[in-house]
Amino acid sequence: MGKGLKSSTCLVIGSGIAGLAAAIRLSSMGMHVKLFEANSTLGGKIAEKKLAGYRFDIGPSVLTKPDYIMELFLIHGKNPDNYIQFEKLDRLFNFYFPDGTTINSFADPARMEQEIREKSDEPVGNVSRVLNDSKKIYRVTREVFLERSLHKTKNYFNWPTLRGVLQFNRVRAFQTMHSYNSKRLNDKRLVQIFDRYASYIGSNPFEAPATLNIINHFEINEGAYFPVGGMYKIVEALVKLAGECGVEIFSGVAVKEIIVEGKKVKGIQTSDGFKESACVICNADIHLAYEKLLPGKIKPEFILSQPRSSSVIVFLWGINKKFPQIGLHNTCFGENDREEYDAIFNRKTISEDPNVYFYNSSSNYSADAPQGKSNLFAMISAPYEDGQNWEDLVSLARTVVIKKLSTLVGEDIGKLIEVEEVLNPKTIESHTGSWKGSVYGNSSNGMFSAFLRHPNFSKRIEGLYFCGGSVHPGSGIPLCLLSAKIAADLIKGDFKL
Ligand SMILES: Cc1cc2nc3c(=O)[nH]c(=O)nc-3n(C[C@H](O)[C@H](O)[C@H](O)COP(=O)(O)OP(=O)(O)OC[C@H]3O[C@@H](n4cnc5c(N)ncnc54)[C@H](O)[C@@H]3O)c2cc1C
Repeated sequence: MGKGLKSSTCLVIGSGIAGLAAAIRLSSMGMHVKLFEANSTLGGKIAEKKLAGYRFDIGPSVLTKPDYIMELFLIHGKNPDNYIQFEKLDRLFNFYFPDGTTINSFADPARMEQEIREKSDEPVGNVSRVLNDSKKIYRVTREVFLERSLHKTKNYFNWPTLRGVLQFNRVRAFQTMHSYNSKRLNDKRLVQIFDRYASYIGSNPFEAPATLNIINHFEINEGAYFPVGGMYKIVEALVKLAGECGVEIFSGVAVKEIIVEGKKVKGIQTSDGFKESACVICNADIHLAYEKLLPGKIKPEFILSQPRSSSVIVFLWGINKKFPQIGLHNTCFGENDREEYDAIFNRKTISEDPNVYFYNSSSNYSADAPQGKSNLFAMISAPYEDGQNWEDLVSLARTVVIKKLSTLVGEDIGKLIEVEEVLNPKTIESHTGSWKGSVYGNSSNGMFSAFLRHPNFSKRIEGLYFCGGSVHPGSGIPLCLLSAKIAADLIKGDFKL
């Protein structure tokens, strides 16, 4: 039974992927939607930068589950192909190891098996078993944890959820990702490859549950995609769709406060005045929401006290040369993952020998760099902002990353960098409102972390909903899109749409 709240208008705070998706979904349910974004640009962490003839995606770069994006067009009866093209990647990643060896990953199982046979003594069946198990984990968790609110009792009384709960032992929640992977794979390099997926949500494979292996399922079993023209095309396509569906978007308008009377939402106070509605959906980081937008309101202290995910240091480099060995997605591994995660999560610093991710969109989309040149996005994991000296840490990271890249390509990269820009946890916090610059909300380092994210609705304030990477079911583009779906479905029920 819905609550029978009444409003024909919904106000959305923030234009991250989840805010845009929620707005598009609500407009398909007949609501008049107004979206307010503090920045002058839309898209939140999905952003781009143009520098001296180079174009850089400066946020996410690995896209999985584009079907969740396409669904937003389909619910409005539109053909997604008219807005955005997704190219399925044949080769997913080039992995470079300190011993000079390489392994590549492919979405095609036959190519993947061939690669393992050629580059490793690992029995191919071991890798297939891990991937099949990841698929099973996804099947069990999908309906129970990912596509519904975990915080509504009624959601537990249906067969798919009960079946999921009964199969809980199959989701590998009681093993860490590393212990699971290292028990099933002999080749340490493959363990590094599979452990690395914890970093996709800012978590530590030595602590996070093996349930997170669903991330390797998304990437290797289902495949990764490149939006033609770069990641920002996703934002442009959704903004266009939202406009056509009647969503009113106000950029450069910061929300100052969510106005509550008694136990009900009354609207929002913005830099452009008061906007009234009994339905508000907040896409801003949940910490920011309670600290800044809901002053004086009771906070869910336990949820807010959960450890945050890690952050990143990113170098955007316009490089005066092309390198065939740097494909679209590449990782250069360090010697000792355990030391790196210990540095980030326990010592709150960076490792001197980190895993480095290089994204080279110009290898797929030549317009992203001038002819004969490359646009490199080099990223390492970093702790969230906790008073560190970022100038020193960035300088250390720069030296280490340039050294690794120079060794890889066999020439001094430092001399070829013609434009540069750097992102660190502080700049990420100021641009996107991510609390302490942690990129992925709470960390997933505990067995119960999935249950300790904020619900997609307020338990105390009627008419207030939440979506985005800092709330259930978690971060990364696919889960943010699911958070928008869950929040919109809750509104549909509560407002009897
Ligand atoms: C460097 C980097 C690499 C990443 N790599 C990947 C990847 O490869 N694949 C992947 O799937 N994910 C990746 N992610 C994570 C992914 O980008 C995020 O999980 C996702 O984009 C977050 O979306 P969101 O909906 O939570 O909103 P956000 O992107 O966090 O946006 C929130 C928006 O709310 C606005 N806002 C905040 N407060 C207010 C206010 N008071 N008034 C108005 N507006 C407000 C902010 O300005 C911002 O625009 C990466 C992130 C980063 C930073």
